[in-house]
Amino acid sequence: MIQESNSSQILQTPRPFTSREPGAAGGEKCQFCGGIVKKKTVSFDLWKKEKLYVFKSVPAKVCEQCGEKYFSPKIYGLIDKLLKEKSKPDETMVVPVMSLKKFADEAEAFG
Ligand SMILES: [Zn+2]
Repeated sequence: MIQESNSSQILQTPRPFTSREPGAAGGEKCQFCGGIVKKKTVSFDLWKKEKLYVFKSVPAKVCEQCGEKYFSPKIYGLIDKLLKEKSKPDETMVVPVMSLKKFADEAEAFG
């Protein structure tokens, strides 16, 4: 079941980057695994109200070890704003949807 998200919940996976040592150049570490975090441009997708949004060319910091993405508060706010304003997308794409509805009983077959 897809739950309706409000603006404070939409970005559960990408987290805003909070540097523990402001001003420490290049010394940023992943908050989860302690790996090195490097500047990258990333793509990610998120669901909001049963609609899938894909964001690309997003400036972020990415952990080289676990792949955790961090965004600056500005980017975080911008994404939120784009979703709220229902801005016209730069492009759209067709997403294949596969239903496994006829295998609904399969979840009872194990465990
Ligand atoms: Zn990490």
